[in-house]
Amino acid sequence: MKHVSASYSCSCSYSNRVKRLLENKENELNELAELIESERTGSSSSGERGDCCGLAFNAGRMEKRADFVCENCGRAFFRGLFLACGSISDPEIGYHLEFALADSDNPNNSSKPLAAEIRQSLSGENIFLKSVKRRKKHVLYLKSSEQIEDFLYYINAEKFSFELMQTKILKSVRNDANRSRNFESANLDKMSRASAEQLAAIESLKSSGKFESLPKELKQTAEIRLENIEMSLQEIGEASNPAVTKSAIVHRMKKIMKIANSE
Ligand SMILES: [Zn+2]
Repeated sequence: MKHVSASYSCSCSYSNRVKRLLENKENELNELAELIESERTGSSSSGERGDCCGLAFNAGRMEKRADFVCENCGRAFFRGLFLACGSISDPEIGYHLEFALADSDNPNNSSKPLAAEIRQSLSGENIFLKSVKRRKKHVLYLKSSEQIEDFLYYINAEKFSFELMQTKILKSVRNDANRSRNFESANLDKMSRASAEQLAAIESLKSSGKFESLPKELKQTAEIRLENIEMSLQEIGEASNPAVTKSAIVHRMKKIMKIANSE
């Protein structure tokens, strides 16, 4: 497990909040480990159940294969395994959870059978690990945020499963906001470009002396545009006397542009 030892003085940063939570995750897992440990070594009242789960947990911590006796052995094993060789990415940056199983050069001591068992065991929980060989290690990983959520839930780290879900929702809300902001600014670009073209046409009509001979309604529209560069066509229509629709202004602007270009 990677330890994040930096101190988080700034409480406002979202990413630091996530890091703190990831640290807490470790604490929670350690607490669970202690709980299991105390069950294992404690009085006989916890019975065989604690014993088998404790053995499974310890096997996980040592990256060894384990027999799952009761229905909770699997959870305990994967908690141990996660503490031993698991890691999870900051969901702000990306969705990635992995186990990097140690492998030695000795082919008899390969982690390949363990990797196969791990994959099969988790597939029973509808969690499907992908596999890759990286620097003599068998790396088993999850890339889908839903699968990572499922895994965290499975190992009783529900809190972080929800945290990941929440981060994902926040990210998607932010993306939507960005998209609509981009859309708005693209529209504004388009509008200001059109407005600049209209201004150029009106200026050229003025310098050629044709402006004064324009029909009254075109002159009014042109004057409003000249004085209100940022106005939308809708707003020019509303500011006209008498007020007209946007499509009437569109029509007038076309006429103005046509007269200006016909020079
Ligand atoms: Zn058990």
